[in-house]
Amino acid sequence: MTCALLTIGTELTRGDLNDTNSGWLADQLTSLGYEVTHMLSIDDNDERIVAALLALSRDHEVIVCTGGLGPTTDDRTTACVATALGVGTFRDLASLAIIHKLALNFGRVVSPSNEKQADFPEGATVLTNRKGTAPGFSVQIGACKAFFLPGVPREMSAMFREHVVPRLPNRGALFTTLRLRSFGLAEAEVNDRLAGLETEHNIIIGYRASHSEIEVKVQAEGRPDESQAELHQRASLAADQVALRLGSAVFSRGGARLPEVLGGLLVALKSTLGLAESCTGGLVSEWITQVPGASRYYRGGVVSYANAVKTQVLGVPDTILHKYGAVSEEVARSMAEGARRILNADYGLAITGVAGPDGGTKSKPVGLVHWAVAGPLHTVSKYATFHGDRVQIQNRAAMSALFSLYKMLMAPPAPPASTQDN
Ligand code: ATP
Ligand code: MG
Repeated sequence: MTCALLTIGTELTRGDLNDTNSGWLADQLTSLGYEVTHMLSIDDNDERIVAALLALSRDHEVIVCTGGLGPTTDDRTTACVATALGVGTFRDLASLAIIHKLALNFGRVVSPSNEKQADFPEGATVLTNRKGTAPGFSVQIGACKAFFLPGVPREMSAMFREHVVPRLPNRGALFTTLRLRSFGLAEAEVNDRLAGLETEHNIIIGYRASHSEIEVKVQAEGRPDESQAELHQRASLAADQVALRLGSAVFSRGGARLPEVLGGLLVALKSTLGLAESCTGGLVSEWITQVPGASRYYRGGVVSYANAVKTQVLGVPDTILHKYGAVSEEVARSMAEGARRILNADYGLAITGVAGPDGGTKSKPVGLVHWAVAGPLHTVSKYATFHGDRVQIQNRAAMSALFSLYKMLMAPPAPPASTQDN
């Protein structure tokens, strides 16, 4: 059973907008055991959209299409599906009522183009949209089940979960996906360490790497004699092996990201966190606060970009700054301890580095980053020279610093008074 993804919009084909919908949908469908073999983006052109719908529906059991369901003249999807099917459209009174109700709530008048969003190809099943005005729909094109969702990612993803997943054709065999996340190992190393597991456990292993973090997906398809519980058991055993072979690099089982894992740990330890960020400019703070419930452990952060802020706000001694420079182990440690103290937190995390592209020197090249974690018992510091552009260096620095915090939170208590953790 194969699936195709179709994203519609001239903004996509002109490069004004990155197609994140396809990636998200492909990940979801793959996790559910469907095989996505084609992803196509088309501009707002009737002929090309109709041709694509006809071609994709011939070769796939499922099409998921996003975009072009809105009220504007460039929103062509409904009309194109009707043309592809050789049918007219009908106005759905329930959808019309919702459009009027939403407009009333926002104090807007409903225009004829808004009402157009209640039109669907004859024979379509309407899929309601709880997060926006454009409803979606599904139709059967020959042997293919086709779903049409709005382009706005948060509307699209909610509707995929609510309407598409329960309506997907049965894919035959059972299927399960388990996820683990690791940090710090190179992709090739992860691959080598996991060699042999696929055949041993009759599973498929998938990898996704970003900013030194690697997600490992263990996918298993049920055998005819296997129950769901047995399948899950087999996949879990394989995932145990993955965890064992990757050792302390694994920080999450189940797909939680590092900031989320840290949040869980800080809550469990009834501890709080304060940040002092220089070259990451608040990135870590952003990640931490993206996790719901962060107020339970996140005290705040200082973006101490200028040296004066490092000294005046965080209390980094002038002498240390002058002696070692802003990008140094000593300053990172002092920043972390300062953040811990002034923010009244149990743990202080600090990052200082040269994000580039300018400002590097021979002894302190672009990409050099020092970070430190000050805990109740001791302070650890680390450094690395990251490659990549400014944003990549910032992301890698932020991830690395968070992983050092993770290690401290996971470490057994009573370490030495002060350690250099390189
Ligand atoms: P609307 O009612 O908002 O107009 P729509 O179904 O017509 O919904 P589009 O007009 O195609 O959707 O896109 C609306 C917005 O959704 C775009 O401006 C863009 O921000 C986002 N979007 C559309 N397609 C994609 C995509 N493939 N990936 C990521 N974002 C997208
Ligand atoms: Mg639109």
